[in-house]
Amino acid sequence: MELLSARLTALSPSETFAMAQKSNELKAQGIDVINMSVGEPDFTTPVHIKEAAKQAIDDNFSFYSPVAGFPDLKKAVCEKLKNENDLEYTPAQIVVSGGAKQSLCNVILSIVDKDEEVIIPAPYWVSYPEMVKLAEGRSVFIYAGIEKEFKITPQQLEDAITPRTKALILCSPSNPTGSVYTRDELQALADVLEKHKNVYVVADEIYEHINYIGKHESMAQFDNIRDRVIVVNGVSKGYAMTGWRIGWIAAPQWIASACSMLQGQYTSGPSSISQKAAVAAYTGDQSCVTEMREAFERRRDLIVNLLGQIPGLKVNNPMGAFYIFPECAGYLGKSYNGKKINTATDLAMYLLEVAHVACVGGDAFGAPGCIRISYATSDENITKAIARIAAALEKLI
Ligand code: PMP
Ligand code: GLU
Repeated sequence: MELLSARLTALSPSETFAMAQKSNELKAQGIDVINMSVGEPDFTTPVHIKEAAKQAIDDNFSFYSPVAGFPDLKKAVCEKLKNENDLEYTPAQIVVSGGAKQSLCNVILSIVDKDEEVIIPAPYWVSYPEMVKLAEGRSVFIYAGIEKEFKITPQQLEDAITPRTKALILCSPSNPTGSVYTRDELQALADVLEKHKNVYVVADEIYEHINYIGKHESMAQFDNIRDRVIVVNGVSKGYAMTGWRIGWIAAPQWIASACSMLQGQYTSGPSSISQKAAVAAYTGDQSCVTEMREAFERRRDLIVNLLGQIPGLKVNNPMGAFYIFPECAGYLGKSYNGKKINTATDLAMYLLEVAHVACVGGDAFGAPGCIRISYATSDENITKAIARIAAALEKLI
């Protein structure tokens, strides 16, 4: 008999990883699948970062690290925040974890109580509502469609806040839409939050470095809410280090202490070798970051152009990250070989089976009329994949 806890029974599996798994299974059968499902840079980790990790092994960084991370990494993070974002933090406000995912979950478990509300702008990244469920909180979704560049308005935020609201999770640059809030837009949201002193902002800035508007705008820059902002970031995306599992928060000290305590009972500090690699990422030559960002921007232009030629798709122009989130509602309700495509997830399955392109249905992101395509792959793959998608969509009647 299976006796899972209610907590686990309520949880949904990660749709991004599920689609990646399906894509890998088809690949293992010898099928030429182009995987645009899971979002991770296709670049390998820059050489100087890998060298630092090798050196860390030789230097015997084989022991437990302090729970909240090595002092040199916390210092490097503070310097990065100062130099890149003009933000002052002390090392005691930084907690390093096993990826930004753990950082986020630590924060949510640390501040959200049973039945407290967490406002999540939709489309959202798949894991936020699941983390809120783990904390026994309640997700409150506010939707912004493609016509608003998938960005919420201050009024929507104001309307969603209740006496039970504990936090807002804001992701910019956004997964899954690629949208980026401008400084003015963030300021307007901060001005709403200023009036609601019990509401915290979890600012997921993991795509900071993959930004085509010129400069990253952090939610922590506004003095009127600064003591209620928890910045979540890490090396996974900007430095092509998804497998190294290093993320961090910069937070009010009492929240940092709570996350550190939670982590101390749960996972301990993250990998010592990966932390040393992350120090090299932050303190070393940053030209790798620029080069990767430029490649992503070029690919963004390519995919926007190619998808824009497919009739029936509404295509957004992402300003960051490496996702595009076209609206495909016009194709829902159509059929292929008598089989009806009812949902965006059905459409993603159809594209996987017929076009051999893996993407993720918008349902998992709270946007049932859209699909997410990751363009963190070569120009050649992008061109081939979009041609296949176009041909497959044409077959639908
Ligand atoms: N936030 C968002 C919006 C993401 O897309 C990801 C990537 N999965 C994460 C957090 C987690 O990043 P990490 O791989 O460092 O855990
Ligand atoms: N951020 C990536 C994505 O959304 C990785 C998968 C995940 O962590 O869910 O595809």
